[in-house]
Amino acid sequence: MGTTTKRAATAFDSFFLPYGEEGEEHFRNHVELVVDTLADVFQEMDQPFQGKTVQDIQQELNGMLDLSEDPQSLHEVLREIKGPVLKNSLHVSHERSMAHLHCPPVLPGVLAELIISSLNQSMDSWDQSPAATYVEEAMIRYWSDLIGFSERGDGVFTSGGTQSNYMGMLLARDEFCLSKWGHIVQKDGLPGAFKKMRVLCSEEAHFSVTKSVSQLGLGEQAVVPVPVNEDHQMELDEVSRTVAQLEQEGLLPYAIVSTCGTTDYGSIDPLEGLADFCEEKGLWLHVDAAYGAGLLLSEKHIDKLAGINRADSVTLDFHKWLYQPISCGMFAVKDQKHLRLLSHHADYLNPLEDEEEGILNLVNKSVQTTRRFDALKVLLTLKVLGTRLLGSMVDQTMEVARFAAEELEHRHRFFVENPSPELSAVVFQYQSEESSDVSGLNRKIQQKLFHEGKAVIAKTSVRGETYLKFTLLNPRTTEEDVLAVIEEIEHTAKQILGGTPH
Ligand SMILES: *Cc1c(COP(=O)(O)O)cnc(C)c1O
Repeated sequence: MGTTTKRAATAFDSFFLPYGEEGEEHFRNHVELVVDTLADVFQEMDQPFQGKTVQDIQQELNGMLDLSEDPQSLHEVLREIKGPVLKNSLHVSHERSMAHLHCPPVLPGVLAELIISSLNQSMDSWDQSPAATYVEEAMIRYWSDLIGFSERGDGVFTSGGTQSNYMGMLLARDEFCLSKWGHIVQKDGLPGAFKKMRVLCSEEAHFSVTKSVSQLGLGEQAVVPVPVNEDHQMELDEVSRTVAQLEQEGLLPYAIVSTCGTTDYGSIDPLEGLADFCEEKGLWLHVDAAYGAGLLLSEKHIDKLAGINRADSVTLDFHKWLYQPISCGMFAVKDQKHLRLLSHHADYLNPLEDEEEGILNLVNKSVQTTRRFDALKVLLTLKVLGTRLLGSMVDQTMEVARFAAEELEHRHRFFVENPSPELSAVVFQYQSEESSDVSGLNRKIQQKLFHEGKAVIAKTSVRGETYLKFTLLNPRTTEEDVLAVIEEIEHTAKQILGGTPH
C-alpha cells in the first residue's frame, strides 16, 4: 500500500465505479436491482412479445421519456422503464421466438458485458487496452485456426456481418487495383477503369454485399447476382459462365462472394468448387459465414464448411448462431499482409514508431477507431461452456429444424421451400384453396401471431410470394414448441379465412 490520502467526497462519487468499501456496496446493490428487475420482467413475459400495437407502445413510452434537471434514484427509473421499455421488448430468449437470426444470449456473454463496460477498454491502441489487445489477438488466433488458416491468418473483431462484409469488399477491391495496375486506392482514389470492376455473388447473398460495394465507390452495377438452383445455392457452372461472359464484354471480375448460410434458407454455396475456380482465375474469394460459422464448433456438421480455409477473407458473426449479445462479429483473412491495405498512421494514436518498436495497435486492422472489447464475451463463453457444449447447441437447433421441416411436409396445407434444411432455418407457405390471395394470407398469419405475441416467426419473399420462416437458434426450443407454433399457425389461418373476429 502506498501513501494514499483519503479523497474528499464529491457529488459525483456514487456515479462512478467503486473504489473503497462504500463504492463496492453501492455497485453491488445496484447490480442486484437490475437483476431483480430483469427477473420480474422475464417472469411476467410468458410469451415472446406482449403484442401491443405501435400506438400503445409509443403512448406508454411518451409518459416516461420526459427528462428533468433533477436526479431520480435508479430504483425509481427501473420501475418507470419496466413496463414501457422492458416488457414491450421482444423476448429473444423465449423458446417460441424464432423469426430472425437473432439469438438468445448465453449468460457468460451477458455477464461479460458488465465487465467489458466496467473496464471500458478501447481496442484501438495498445495503451488503451494493454491486456485486452492480447485477448482479442488470442481469440482471433483461435477462430482463424478453426477456419483452418495457417499462421499467416489474421483478423479483427467487428460490429457484425455488415462491417465484416464491407472489409472483405474493401480489401478485395484494393488488392485487385494494386496487383493489376500497381494502383493504391487509399492514396489515389479509384482507378480510371473502376467502372469495369465486377464482384459476383449469389442472388440470395446478404444485401450488405451490394451495399458495401456501392459505398466503396463502385456502384451497385459492380455486383453481378448469380441465379441459384432449387436448393438456393449458386452453381459452379453458372459462376464460370457468368465470369466468361463478363470477360467477353471486356469487364473485370475480381472477386466472388460465397455465402455460407444464406439469411433465409441457410444454404451454402459450393465452397471447394468456388475455391478451385478462384484459385485458377486469380479471383478474391470472400466467404460470408455470418450464419454458417456456428458450425465451426459442431462435431457433427463441420464438414459442411469444407473449403472455408481456402477463402481469402471470411465473415463470422458471434451474435447470431454463437449466442453472444449484440454486437459481436469477426473478420478473418487468410494472409495478414492484406490487412495492411487498411492501415493509416495517426501521430496521436498509432505512430509508425510504435510499429517499429513492436507495439500492437489494433486500429491498424480495423475500420473503426474506438472499439469495444467484445472478444472477452467470446473468451468467457468458450471457457465457461466449453467448446463441446457450444457445438452441441448448434447441432440441437439443426435437429429441431429438420423436425419442423418434416412435420410441415406431412401437413397438407403447408408447402416447404427447403424440406432438408442445410442449417436451422425453414421456409414454408400456408396454402389454401379458400383464399385467392395466398401471399396476403401468409402475411396476415405472421402479423396476427406477432400481435397476439404467442409466437414470433418471420416472413420472407419467395419468387414474389410471401412465405413464412422459422429461424431456430434457441437450443431450448423443443419439438413440442415447434408443434405448438405450427398448430397456432393453422388455427390462425382458419380464423382469418373464416373471418372470425379476434
Ligand atoms: C446477418 C447477416 C449479415 C449481416 O450481419 P450483421 O451482423 O447483421 O451486420 C451478413 N451476411 C449474412 C449471410 C447474414 O445472415
